[in-house]
Amino acid sequence: MNFLFHVQEKMRFIFAFFVFADLCIYSTLAADCACATTAVHVRDGAGTTHNTLTTLATGHCLTFKGQRQTVAGDSWVNVDYNGRKCWIGQDGWIHEGYVHIQACAGSGSPASSAVQLPGCPHIVTRHEWGARSPTRPHTLLTHTPKYMFIHHGATPFCHTKAECTQMVKSAQNYHMDGHGYSDIEYSFLVGEDGNVYEGRGWDAVGAHTLNYNSVGLAICVIGDFTNRLPNDAALNAVKQLVQCAHDNHKITATYMLRGHRDVGATACPGNKLYELIKTWPHY
Ligand SMILES: [Zn+2]
Repeated sequence: MNFLFHVQEKMRFIFAFFVFADLCIYSTLAADCACATTAVHVRDGAGTTHNTLTTLATGHCLTFKGQRQTVAGDSWVNVDYNGRKCWIGQDGWIHEGYVHIQACAGSGSPASSAVQLPGCPHIVTRHEWGARSPTRPHTLLTHTPKYMFIHHGATPFCHTKAECTQMVKSAQNYHMDGHGYSDIEYSFLVGEDGNVYEGRGWDAVGAHTLNYNSVGLAICVIGDFTNRLPNDAALNAVKQLVQCAHDNHKITATYMLRGHRDVGATACPGNKLYELIKTWPHY
């Protein structure tokens, strides 16, 4: 074995190593993760009859392998149980109701980009509208919420993204500085520009509906709908958002749609909007 051959072999080995390492890093960067919204079992097959491999703690994530299976009406997601993002994974399965599929940490995307789920109308993320950070971490919902509440802002209307962004920012300031909450109160807000704005998002307990915050999500339509309905752009965005929440298991399959006034002493969400939502599915 002459010296040159030796060096070539070494180079080849080093080259092969880097190609392999590169593929691995690439797959890590591109991956989606399934992150537990509450402590949840990882099983060796889809469905509760399968063996438990481990319990995934709240906030911990495993790489989502891209497959889903429906068992007894529930969606299960296929994850890499070993948590190895390259070549040695073992299959695990988790009930989708207890995880949030999002870009894996380290992908460079802000965490809130995970708010955009399949079938949702475009959601303007907190980063995009310039949200302040919450004063303390959000409390995560421990169960899939069974209520979807509709609110109105009882505020002026907004019809452009610039106007609505300002309204969302001032709502957050009012809720934090005026009401003393850790963050904006609602899960989502919708403007008559047709955009959905991320509030606390899908998985956090809000501060929107007294006594129901841990069992419901809330959408606030910006404006006052005592004497008129929201425009079609806003109504379509609300309807699509509710549907996508349902389709992505962010609310239960048998969820109840309600107006704020159904569970509290308030005129919210305004007479006109309230009369309309009473005609919608799941009311
Ligand atoms: Zn309300």
